[in-house]
Amino acid sequence: MSRPKKKVYIKTFGCQMNVADSEHMAQVLAQEYALTDRPEEADLYLINTCAIRKKSEEKVRSLLGSLKALKQKRPQMLLGVGGCVAQQEGERLLAAVPHLDLVFGTHGIYRLPELVRRAFSKRQVDVALMEGFPPALPRRWRPGSAQALVTIMQGCNNFCSFCVVPYVRGREYSRPPAEIVAEVQEFLAAGGKEVTLLGQNVNSYGRGLSEPLAFPQLLCKLAELQGLERLRFATSHPKDLSDELIGLFGELTPLCEHLHLPVQSGSNRVLAAMNRAYTREHYLEKVARLRRCLPGVSLSTDIIVGFPGETEADFQETLTLAQEATFQQAFCFKYSPRPQTRAASLPDQVTEEVKAERLARLLDLQDSITLAALQRLVGQAWEVLVEGVSKRSDQELSGRLRTNQVVNFSGPPKLVGQLVSVEITEAHPHSLKGRWVAELSPASRRPVAEGTPRRLSC
Ligand code: SAM
Ligand code: SF4
Repeated sequence: MSRPKKKVYIKTFGCQMNVADSEHMAQVLAQEYALTDRPEEADLYLINTCAIRKKSEEKVRSLLGSLKALKQKRPQMLLGVGGCVAQQEGERLLAAVPHLDLVFGTHGIYRLPELVRRAFSKRQVDVALMEGFPPALPRRWRPGSAQALVTIMQGCNNFCSFCVVPYVRGREYSRPPAEIVAEVQEFLAAGGKEVTLLGQNVNSYGRGLSEPLAFPQLLCKLAELQGLERLRFATSHPKDLSDELIGLFGELTPLCEHLHLPVQSGSNRVLAAMNRAYTREHYLEKVARLRRCLPGVSLSTDIIVGFPGETEADFQETLTLAQEATFQQAFCFKYSPRPQTRAASLPDQVTEEVKAERLARLLDLQDSITLAALQRLVGQAWEVLVEGVSKRSDQELSGRLRTNQVVNFSGPPKLVGQLVSVEITEAHPHSLKGRWVAELSPASRRPVAEGTPRRLSC
């Protein structure tokens, strides 16, 4: 009889990239450790960290402090910290937290089983960054899981002046297309339906590959795969969003009618200081082109307020851009100075008070734009991929439209992982409520309702 596996608990902070990395951690450890969602029974407790803002880093430090008690109760439990904070702090973290056994950086995931084994006898630190795309990791898709995050690149070369990513994730490397296609095929064979391709700047995918392949061609290859219902990607850098890529929206059936296109600011002065390499006018032109190709496409974005030197006039430009672009959703942040980055040492840092006040005004405006966009969907039926039981009530299911809005509705649990038609009955500030109409057979899938995004002429 085989030995029962030990248990690993993984706490994830941060973006989808970190969620994908945590899945990889679980997979590389799978021979010896089974995943648990109960930290109190873990033999190995891993924290996958985010360093993008100071606040995310503080959350990690506070969790580490509170884990001292668990470690005292279960001294045999190994405690490890991985990801961006681990990469940034390395030895310093081990020195500062005596009950920590293991620190591994963003590329350390690939050496995790060996590091864990060694950590039983000696505390470990591994923050080495590799050259090239790391070796393919074993993927085992959970049967019945309808969505997959597929990493297509690592690192970033853009060095936006506010951003710590190039320092903690290293240089940009693209993953060979054959590996990506194989991983997606395996997921689809296990019953998967939706794939989200991940990279810090997917538009620059392909540089440095032995047989170059640009991102639009990768999308075309994947869109042909049998069984792929929905294809998404994040994140797109506006400077590299090509006409060719824009033209694929509405052209490739699985490609969802949603684009996440972080703008960061509406002021050309601030954009230049951020080293974003586009202007407000370029950004809005690309949005207009996309909407000409695919009316009904929904847009989301990231915005930073209170970048060093941002004046009230600059901030007004961000407000007017948010109005002109009519984002369906905006992730808005107060600028947070990060170690090593150029912006951290710029003069004219904006006070916390002004940042908080600008953030509140931006959120007020965005909330009204989001609500108006959600209200326009009421009264129509839309294709929804059911993701699970709703966070708010276990009587409700939750899913997403192709245009990325979240909808909650009553329905039997057997619908989880299925494509269904849902009529929208109410718009809430950040989500929709609906009524389940029908399961969708492949033939009946699109269009579900009048107004479903479809391609006109560019
Ligand atoms: N690669 C993506 C891009 O170019 O837009 C962004 C990746 S980053 C993980 C996600 C978002 O965090 C950024 O778009 C930005 O809005 C925000 N962010 C990054 N650094 C920040 C900082 N120092 N302070 C506040 N927000 C920050
Ligand atoms: Fe950071 Fe800019 Fe790279 Fe995005 S593109 S990860 S914001 S440096």
